[in-house]
This record gives sequence, C-alpha cells and structure tokens, in this order.
Amino acid sequence: ALTIGIVGLPNVGKSTMFNALTKNNVLAANYPFATIEPNVGVVPLPDARLSRLAEIFGSEKILPATVSFVDIAGIVRGASEGEGLGNKFLANIREADAICQVVRAFEDGDVVHVDGKVSPESDIETIHTELILADLQTLEKAVPRLEKEARIKKDVAPVLANALAAQKVLEEGKTLYAAGSAGGVDLAEAKALGLLTTKPFIYVFNLDEDQLADASLHGRLAELVAPADAVFLNAKLEMDLMDMSPEDQREMLEGFGASESGLDQLARTGFHTLGLQTYLTAGPKESRAWTIRQGWTAPQAAGVIHTDFEKGFIKAEVVSFTDLDELGSMAAVKAAGKARLEGKDYVMADGDVVEFRFNV
Ligand code: GDP
Repeated sequence: ALTIGIVGLPNVGKSTMFNALTKNNVLAANYPFATIEPNVGVVPLPDARLSRLAEIFGSEKILPATVSFVDIAGIVRGASEGEGLGNKFLANIREADAICQVVRAFEDGDVVHVDGKVSPESDIETIHTELILADLQTLEKAVPRLEKEARIKKDVAPVLANALAAQKVLEEGKTLYAAGSAGGVDLAEAKALGLLTTKPFIYVFNLDEDQLADASLHGRLAELVAPADAVFLNAKLEMDLMDMSPEDQREMLEGFGASESGLDQLARTGFHTLGLQTYLTAGPKESRAWTIRQGWTAPQAAGVIHTDFEKGFIKAEVVSFTDLDELGSMAAVKAAGKARLEGKDYVMADGDVVEFRFNV
C-alpha cells in the first residue's frame, strides 16, 4: 500500500495531526488484510463517484482507495550529527513512498517553538539539512566502496558516476528530489543506494484558524516549496472534525471557507505527488476504487485485484463513469453502445469502471 512518512520539528502539530489521522482507522476494519500499527494512520481517498456507483449497482459496501501515513518521530536540529538520525527513524523513512513535512505556521505564545520563533522557511531548511546530511553520510560510505568495485566491474561505473553527481547536488544544499532532473541524477538509482532525499516531498502547513482562508499567505508558503505540493490545514480543527457527522463537518468547513478537510486534501495530494490514479469496480457486493500508477495497462491494473487476473488476462470490459452516471444503468450504457472491450495494450483512464475477463 501507498505509505507516506510524516516528519517535522517538535511542537509543530505532528501528533495532533496524527491523532486525527488515526481516528480514521475505523475504516481499516473494512480491509481484512490491513494490519494497523499504532504509528500508522489510514485515510480514505475521497471519491464521490463511489457512492453513485453503489446507488446504481445496489452495492452493500463502499471501499475507497486509501493512503497510509506513518509517524516518523525523531528529527531535530543536529540529529544527523553524533548519534545520527537513529536506526528506527532511518528504517521507517526508507520504507515510505513519500515524505510529508509538517511545518508550523500557527502563532501561539503558549506553544514553544524549538528555535524561539515561528519561521516556516527556516524550519523547512532545518529538516532538509538533516536529511541532506544523512544522505551525505550514506554516500561517504558508498562512494569508496563503488570506486573499488568499479575497478573490477565495468557496469559499476555509471552507478559511481550517479553517486558522485548526487553528492554534488547534496553538497550544494539541495535535496535530490528538489534538484530533479536538472541535478543530472538518476533518482531511481540514487534511491537504490538508500538516499532519502530522492523521495517526493509534500509540505503540510499547520495554520491558525484565521489563516485558513488567507489566500495570499497560502501563496507565499506554496512558493517556498514549489514545485512540490503544499497542503494547508489546522491540525486542531482536523481533530475536531473527526468527531463530527459528515453534515456537521461540511458546515464547519464552510464556515472556514474550505470545501474539504485538510486530511482529504492530503490524501489527494499524496496521490498526485506519487503519480497515482484509481479505477473503479462495481457490483452488488461492493463499489471499490483500486490504486494504480498513471499509464498502467489493463492487465497491470487487473493484477492489483489478483495476480491471476493479470496472468490470465483476456479482455477488460470498460465503461466510463461519466456515461454510467448520465445513463443510470449498465444496461443503458450497453444499449447506447458505450461499453468497450479493451485488450492487453489498453492504458487505463481515470474514471474507468471495469470488469476483467480472465482465464484461471
Ligand atoms: P508535535 O511535537 O509536532 O507532535 O506537536 P503536537 O501535535 O504535540 O503539538 C504541540 C502543541 O501545539 C500542542 O500543545 C498542540 O495542542 C498545539 N497545536 C497543534 N496544532 C496546533 C494548531 O494548529 N494551532 C494551535 N494554536 N496550536 C496547535
């Protein structure tokens, strides 16, 4: 499953946000295969199409796609010096598909800031610096080893060259992800070396309630981290929302000029940052969203349901959600000639409602 690691300086609201996230775990009861650990929060990807499908197909259950968040405590200024970042921290963060940095923007005299003042910019830099130093330490060990190997094995030369390119970017104080292709580093290869800053970053700005609708503030903060994605929320409000009915949630959010909760935004942003999308299946038992990568073919998508579906793939019967929504039933979509049979080269599109045909 898709996992996003949460990092941030102390007292920025990580635990508060995380408590809101874990209140969501009731959802996991729907997923018998999901083991929920205390430091993991599961958030459903909001998808209004599922309730419409459930209506059309009379589904008993709705199963949205989910994003898991792992609380990765233990990063402070200077963490990478001395004892280093800690094995548990490194193990947790290596497993994450993306890194979500929580940044404090709320002003509250009662909540001490570790550096004495609220400064999103310098907080972000502090965390970046710790992760960059950790990567440089990894390279200090890897480069001499690769240099030795490269003398014996020809194919190690490009790996070494890539490690050296990464070292150069990091020494300039940039994360490998932020430097992107302009840094001349193959991120997938650098990731294989265990370099943390290859991972996509998402920034969550924890705001005061009265900053929630402040578009110019959002603009300034978004600019600090662009082209990475930014999410704006108030962690305390997210906690309160968790205890409310959907109607009350909507009313509360409207009061703050927001159309969806911060955690919903976060789940959506996670999908966007990681280049993921969903396709849909529907029937009397359940209407369900399945997570795939953008650009995946029908057999690859089928493999997410079951490996046998991929191996024995014959055809995918595809209708678009828009047609189904408009025409109101599968029969009507078929009668209108809008159901398609797609083969193994078909690239999945967002909003595809699919039934796979396969050999067992
Ligand atoms: P962590 O150390 O990053 O996990 O931070 P916590 O979640 O423990 O929050 C530190 C303190 O800040 C607690 O007293 C929270 O109640 C408070 N806090 C968290 N989020 C907000 C917020 O959005 N606004 C305000 N005013 N206080 C917050």
